[in-house]
Amino acid sequence: MTRRMTSTTSTRLDRLPATAGAAAPPVRLIRDIYAEQRMLGQPVLSIELFPPKTPKGNALLFEHALPALRDLEPDFYSVTYGAGGSTRDRTIAIVDRIQREHQTTTMAHLTCISTSRADIEHFLLDARKRGIRNILALRGDPPLDNGGPVERGFEYSYQLVEFIKAIGGFSIGTAGFPESHIACTEGKHVDWQRLKAKIDRGADFVLTQLFFDNDDYFAFRDYLTETLGVSVPITPGILPILSTDQIRRFTSLCGATLPAAVSAKLDAYGNDAAAVGEFGVEFATRQCEALLAGGAPGLHFYSLNKPHAPTRIIGNLGLRG
Ligand SMILES: Cc1cc2nc3c(=O)[nH]c(=O)nc-3n(C[C@H](O)[C@H](O)[C@H](O)COP(=O)(O)OP(=O)(O)OC[C@H]3O[C@@H](n4cnc5c(N)ncnc54)[C@H](O)[C@@H]3O)c2cc1C
Repeated sequence: MTRRMTSTTSTRLDRLPATAGAAAPPVRLIRDIYAEQRMLGQPVLSIELFPPKTPKGNALLFEHALPALRDLEPDFYSVTYGAGGSTRDRTIAIVDRIQREHQTTTMAHLTCISTSRADIEHFLLDARKRGIRNILALRGDPPLDNGGPVERGFEYSYQLVEFIKAIGGFSIGTAGFPESHIACTEGKHVDWQRLKAKIDRGADFVLTQLFFDNDDYFAFRDYLTETLGVSVPITPGILPILSTDQIRRFTSLCGATLPAAVSAKLDAYGNDAAAVGEFGVEFATRQCEALLAGGAPGLHFYSLNKPHAPTRIIGNLGLRG
């Protein structure tokens, strides 16, 4: 498999004793990864991580989570970004470090809300210098105080997609919402048409918000592909349930539906955290099986930096090793 090397990254490697002698990172454009895996008839596996706030969190990520995830041979990792730029330096540093130390393509998320164009351009140029070639272009959630307008900023992510495309050199991903975006009051078809606008402006692939009813994903995908003529990969985002309180909080924040049958199971498990975790793995395994059988081009796991559930699920699916 041919993998792209960059001279800028190998210069950086020379300056880093911890990885001295390591090969330059195999940075690939994610659109090429999807195209290649499609030809091979294989799903693209990706794993989302967040940048830890503390040295202890960083150590857990690099000494425990990433070594455990390595056996899954993910096609790429992605690293989240705090809206407004709160994790800007950490996001870029972690993407850079994963690419060098784990030799795996890693995508930086980037949000445009409450950020000037100059800051976004600076981030992108820094990313490019470090050999980061993939960006998930997002709006982010507005701050509670609304933040106020930013001079020469962007209001929606389609403008960010356009901007990244104009800068050039990146494969661009975008977010899609099988149950419609929580703030879209005009109905799901309007939200999905806006997603098409992001693709028309240069997004190469879609990663979806978490969902639990596969019919939502298939209706969303079919509308995009059959009604709107979208041809880029639309990859389901999978959040394995780890804890009852956490999943109730997440779903209420992002507007995803927790089906009544799932909610009832969680109620029945009460405080039995181990039983909830087992149920989460089993449910996600069945969900992923049906998604792949229905033609999903890959699976994007929201790992929350915990390798256990994705490892079990991918193992159950028999997709690696
Ligand atoms: C896979 C994935 C990863 C994510 N990672 C992060 C992350 O790292 N950091 C983070 O902060 N958040 C992240 N998010 C959350 C995301 O930032 C929020 O859901 C945000 O509210 C919407 O982002 P967007 O890019 O979809 O916005 P947009 O595409 O801009 O859409 C936002 C809203 O505006 C509406 N809209 C779009 N265009 C128009 C228009 N022209 N006129 C009127 N209304 C319009 C849409 O219908 C929608 O309701 C992620 C979400 C997903 C699915």
